[in-house]
Amino acid sequence: MSENVRTLCGKLHSKSNISKHRKTCLKCIKYEQSERRRIQEEKCEIDQLKARLDELEKQPKTTNVFVNIIPFSQEPMLSQETIKELLEPASDCVPKYVKQKHFLKAGGNIRIPNKSQKRIQVLCEEAGEKIWVTKDRDDFIKDLTGISMTELDEKYGASNISENYRRWATRFNNSDKIIQQKLDNQILYTILDNQTYDK
Ligand SMILES: [Zn+2]
Repeated sequence: MSENVRTLCGKLHSKSNISKHRKTCLKCIKYEQSERRRIQEEKCEIDQLKARLDELEKQPKTTNVFVNIIPFSQEPMLSQETIKELLEPASDCVPKYVKQKHFLKAGGNIRIPNKSQKRIQVLCEEAGEKIWVTKDRDDFIKDLTGISMTELDEKYGASNISENYRRWATRFNNSDKIIQQKLDNQILYTILDNQTYDK
């Protein structure tokens, strides 16, 4: 009796008969087929989950955060009202412009990963993919000051909107390195104050 084995369909058969039963019993064949299919499907699902997990582990941890950030140089235009507001006082307008454009509008497409290092990261789009590109911090900020002032005038007509701005910009463009460095510092602090990225 101990030699008897229960088949998938629930019958008891002797060990010597079991393989013949399996091959001929329609119920057992069906059971076995569906069982094999189920295992195959589970294996597929496990493989898919493993692949997805590998993918997630390879991605930087900030992925969820930067999906919504607009890449550098693709920021939408600011409203004329916003521009008017930030032109007074003129001496603060560039940091305010950087805050509006790169942080409030774009969601923070510039970040400084480490305060004690002279590098800055800019969210760029390359071949449809968003990536953080590391640049020299001081060089980049100097460029950003220039780009911002050019845009204020050429895109928004700041000098026509505000006589104070026009005078300030003229003075600034003719000023020495110390004054220009001060503005660069202000922009650096604006980035540090507004970035959501830590470490
Ligand atoms: Zn059977």
